[in-house]
Amino acid sequence: MEKLNNSQLKHLRAVLIEREAALRTDMKRGADDKEEYAQVASEVPDPGDASFANLEVDLGNAAVGRELNELRAIEVAQARMENGSYGECMECGFPIPYERLEAQPTAERCAPCQEMYEKTHADAAKGATL
Ligand SMILES: [Zn+2]
Repeated sequence: MEKLNNSQLKHLRAVLIEREAALRTDMKRGADDKEEYAQVASEVPDPGDASFANLEVDLGNAAVGRELNELRAIEVAQARMENGSYGECMECGFPIPYERLEAQPTAERCAPCQEMYEKTHADAAKGATL
């Protein structure tokens, strides 16, 4: 497997920047939604409606948690681009295939190592695959 060439790296860098901007926009929109929720909840005294609204907010928080995790993963990927370790599997040290990085630019492991990692770390399998 060959290491990334400059144009591949440039492309992935652009993908990460775009993804980061989209995530930040999403999270900002999520925060605006919560303000609306606070209004709706105070206007609707019916307990059934209020609990439904609560459920929605909880789901919203889970989504924000995932978005935060992805943002962190993007920052890690960008830092690895800076120090030159981007595109190398952090377990076995072999280059991660470009196709995998294109699908998942924040990938830190090659597919076999990721699979192994998720088997041994049950929590990791629940979150976003890095
Ligand atoms: Zn590996």
